[in-house]
Amino acid sequence: ERKIAIMTSGGDSPGMNAAIRAAAKTAMSKGMTVYGVRRGYLGMLNDEIFPMTGQFVSGIVDKGGTVLLTARCDEFREEKFRAIAANNLKKRGIEGLVVIGGDGSYHGADLLYREHGIKVIGIPGTIDNDIKGTQFTLGFDTCLNTILDAISKIRDTATSHERTILVEVMGRSAGDLALQACIAGGGDGIMIPEMDNPIELLALQLKERRKSGKLHDIVLVAEGVGRVYEIEQELKGRISSEIRSVVLGHVQRGGTPSGFDRMLASRMGHKAIELLEQDQGGLMIGLEGIELVTHPIDYAWNGERRTNLDTDYELALLLAK
Ligand code: ATP
Repeated sequence: ERKIAIMTSGGDSPGMNAAIRAAAKTAMSKGMTVYGVRRGYLGMLNDEIFPMTGQFVSGIVDKGGTVLLTARCDEFREEKFRAIAANNLKKRGIEGLVVIGGDGSYHGADLLYREHGIKVIGIPGTIDNDIKGTQFTLGFDTCLNTILDAISKIRDTATSHERTILVEVMGRSAGDLALQACIAGGGDGIMIPEMDNPIELLALQLKERRKSGKLHDIVLVAEGVGRVYEIEQELKGRISSEIRSVVLGHVQRGGTPSGFDRMLASRMGHKAIELLEQDQGGLMIGLEGIELVTHPIDYAWNGERRTNLDTDYELALLLAK
């Protein structure tokens, strides 16, 4: 009888619960014994591993966050602690592990696979969309929609006061959230870590907008570019409108997952168990086009990032005018 475990790790993202549910229900339907690991690698190390029931995953498909809880665990970077954690799985006869998290979590999973033979399957769960080998990560779409809601609200006050408002959104290395929020939310300026962001250029664009009669500007700034308050200081004196800055912060991580995220999560959770049933491991699941694909788990950092970033950036600049 096959025993598998499910865990979430790194930053939480909407859709993680839908993935847990789909993986658990699929595994149960195949007669597998399912365990949950609480608090990511920290819980694995501390032996917080419990038999999961159908009841545990009932009523969670529409909940943000993760019912398994998540944590960061620096000890996991050390071989001796990974050995303890792996043993906590092995002593229960657990051979397969579904890891829902970001690329840091995949690093840990890769080591568990290579050092201890645990069959790991990675599901990309992070709002940033910064994992190679998948067009979308779980939570990105929900987060994008949260930012779009916020932009609409910010625009009301921006227009009324004729202000320039800088909106800092998440994305340390990937500007996808800022870029897509700019295009879909009618943003008027964009700063993302993948591009040079000369302040002079932004100032010029904003001045042009005002000349053409626009009453406000909303500038999307990905956190990887720098703190929005510092950018505000740099922009001051270069434009004549009043500037305000908003950091959307953790609001972006929460909330009911969108239909898209729930579907993606459910398909990926199901796929992860099919792979474990076939005795596969050391893989990550991704979405390409309309198909789920698999890559070796290290593709997440060694692979190629395929996005429409360049064309989207051009589009964002064009629509910002
Ligand atoms: P997010 O995208 O939200 O940051 P993440 O999965 O990338 O998610 P991290 O904090 O980078 O989040 O990683 C989560 C956990 O994975 C770490 O706390 C650590 O336990 C483990 N981990 C990360 N990098 C490594 C590594 N190089 N070796 C072993 N374990 C790692």
